[in-house]
Amino acid sequence: MEKLRYERPVINKIQSGLPDKFGAKFALESKTEIEGHLVKELLEEFGSPLYVISENTIRNTHRDLYQAFSTRYPKVQMAWSYKTNYLDAVCQIFHHEGSWAEVVSWFEYEKALNNGVDPKKIIFNGPHKSNDELQASITNGSLIHIDHFDELYQIMHITKELSVKAKVAIRINMDTGIYPQWERFGFNYENGEAWNAINRIMQCEGMELVGLHTHIGTYIMSVSGYSVAAAKLAELAVRTDRKFEHKIRYIDMGGGFATSNTLKGAYLPGTDTCPSFDDYAEAITGALFTSEIRPEDMPMLILETGRALIDDAGYLLGTVVANKRMASGRRGMIIDIGVNHLFTSFWYEHVIMPGIPVNTDSEDTQICGPLCMNIDVIRQAVRFPLLQPGDPVVIERIGAYNMTQWMQFITYRPNVVLIGADGETYVIREKENIDTFKQSERVPDFLK
Ligand SMILES: *Cc1c(COP(=O)(O)O)cnc(C)c1O
Repeated sequence: MEKLRYERPVINKIQSGLPDKFGAKFALESKTEIEGHLVKELLEEFGSPLYVISENTIRNTHRDLYQAFSTRYPKVQMAWSYKTNYLDAVCQIFHHEGSWAEVVSWFEYEKALNNGVDPKKIIFNGPHKSNDELQASITNGSLIHIDHFDELYQIMHITKELSVKAKVAIRINMDTGIYPQWERFGFNYENGEAWNAINRIMQCEGMELVGLHTHIGTYIMSVSGYSVAAAKLAELAVRTDRKFEHKIRYIDMGGGFATSNTLKGAYLPGTDTCPSFDDYAEAITGALFTSEIRPEDMPMLILETGRALIDDAGYLLGTVVANKRMASGRRGMIIDIGVNHLFTSFWYEHVIMPGIPVNTDSEDTQICGPLCMNIDVIRQAVRFPLLQPGDPVVIERIGAYNMTQWMQFITYRPNVVLIGADGETYVIREKENIDTFKQSERVPDFLK
């Protein structure tokens, strides 16, 4: 047996104020308050952990995005992507700002109706819509975005029995120069499938082709992919007009804009790499203006932006449970926020900050959640000051997807609080309790 190589043990001095990879002084900021509310007091009043959403940030971000597009293009319509965050209060803020609803399931469709959205302003996306769901949404005059040929034939069949025409668009996937290409949704552009689908719809009595749709991916950092996509959709609109003398009413560019969150493995922080709304707007509207579409026929431009509109508005507040020294020597810190409440921690290096003022001494720390599960890690390695059990922490930019993809796993889902534009706090989703579960569970008599 070969002798193991000897490595001399070393003692590393903990150095505070060590420069980061850009040579700048390392400094971790505390986040002690959110819009005038002390983090410590929010946790005392509403419990820990706690989701906090800022109405002001939602409205300001929405206006910034709308302004970037509407100053460049005559007809712009936003449609709120429900799956990104479908808390009713959040959806209502977007609807008050003028957004339609973009839904990908019947559950979301019902939520939009329940929020009072005009069914004609609901875009029904997604690869699975049942006969009943299609029949109801077509009768309501909603915009049906067809994903595949089976759905196209399904609608052909259903509309034979209906007195109304279905208002449809097709979802189109394509090579935009961004890989891996999202090819599983919609009809392909390059192989002629999309043009084939358009021809079948145009020659079907029961359907009216109103739009062309694409959603090229998510967290897309390259704006050029959007120019390519818009140009290809415009080309199909022109071809449709040439062959059928039929004008496409809208081009829907989907969502996918990046946010300032940092992806795992990224060298630079997201704050440095995220394109601005102006960059995206320039790419998309530029491609539409330079297309062959005649000026008087310019279609409405629909955007289904999700994460880029809500990420910054969400915070997750929590509390330190314990500190420990792991066998490797690294410091471990356990907080009461787990991956069940922060699903996006699987792909983002979330910014986590002390919720109280701290000194600058920091040490390489692994930050774990409270779940009895090895993958429950919020940050694998981050320079962090020593907090004591009971001290608050704040995770920034968590508004997108965490309040829809959250798992109830072994704990209750916590309160969600909105800080209104008036500065007041409102519970917009109540913490779960044992009754939440008793309501839907049944124990057969013989097991009682
Ligand atoms: C998820 C989704 C969106 C929103 O995507 P983001 O990447 O969050 O902007 C928009 N449109 C469709 C069809 C989607 O599935």
